[in-house]
Amino acid sequence: MSSTEIVCIVCPNGCRLTVSQSDGEISVQGATCKKGIDFAKTELTAPTRSLTSTVDTVFSDMPRLPVKTEGEIPKDKLLDAMKIIRNTKVTERLKTGDTVINDLFGTKVIATADMNI
Ligand code: SF4
Repeated sequence: MSSTEIVCIVCPNGCRLTVSQSDGEISVQGATCKKGIDFAKTELTAPTRSLTSTVDTVFSDMPRLPVKTEGEIPKDKLLDAMKIIRNTKVTERLKTGDTVINDLFGTKVIATADMNI
């Protein structure tokens, strides 16, 4: 049996979790809710993260647009995802929630600010 300590990053409580694996079974101690248990299991098997960043625009009054992934992407794809985001340039005025990138490792990248204000 192996065990590891991780901090749950799902909410600001930051519960300290002890995750143990034995015969393919994963058990989690220290979580105060089911989200923490799900997080620990995903972290051990296929860790994912959401990503926030900014992209270039063609507009001088708002040269950078804040964006975030709508869902999560595999943790080992974060650097590749940042390269794609860095090479993205917005050419039309968008509002919060509009799609900036249709498919970034299985999720959309959306605007988190309005460009028309
Ligand atoms: S286990 Fe639940 S309460 Fe604790 S940090 Fe994770 S989501 Fe928050």
